[in-house]
Amino acid sequence: MNSKKRRLGVFGGSFDPPHGGHLHAARCAAQAFQLDHVLFVPAARPPHKPGRNLASGAHRVALLERLLEGEPGVSIDPRELAREGPSYTVDTLAELAGESELFLILGTDNLAGLPKWFQLERIFELAQPIVIHRAGEREQHLKGLEAQLSPPQLKRLARGFVEWPPVTVSSTDLRSAVRAGSGPGEHLPPALEQYIREHGLYRGDE
Ligand code: ATP
Repeated sequence: MNSKKRRLGVFGGSFDPPHGGHLHAARCAAQAFQLDHVLFVPAARPPHKPGRNLASGAHRVALLERLLEGEPGVSIDPRELAREGPSYTVDTLAELAGESELFLILGTDNLAGLPKWFQLERIFELAQPIVIHRAGEREQHLKGLEAQLSPPQLKRLARGFVEWPPVTVSSTDLRSAVRAGSGPGEHLPPALEQYIREHGLYRGDE
């Protein structure tokens, strides 16, 4: 019997809306770390974005379904939308641990806030981080964390960097483009643009 564990990428976020940068991050992670599968895990209430009203979980899942249609090796895991209270990554990883070898996918913009993540030590025990380049330099990101993470954590993080050419788009840019009525550009596929229009999403203030 083959007892090798499946290599599973866990990719959490608000996905409000999801976009080509998210797809790029999942593809880079899967290729660089030979992942068998990537789970997109939309957060119900991201602890680090307390002030903003997100589109409903149902809308964000519908948008993710459209983004991921036809993409091999990915799926949506709605468990955080069903869970009460804040969406803590550590809870999701703990639930998934055991069946798979876990990899936590995040963009470089998440690094500065990482030391404040709930039970970070446990997160690093449960998963190898995969850090996808968005902006800045690896050294610069790690330097900012040197005083806050332990040497083994820094080493594990450094091992996870994937510094391939970035896709520079954010959900914030896309929400602004929708609000301004300008074309959202190449990183929001037409099916998502149509869904956003039909449901009147992202028209009001943040
Ligand atoms: P917002 O602009 O609302 O902050 P966002 O575009 O950063 O949103 P999130 O849903 O907050 O998207 O991000 C989920 C995860 O995807 C995070 O780890 C984030 O760093 C990563 N990510 C988002 N956009 C990109 C991108 N263009 N390239 C690589 N990673 C990305």
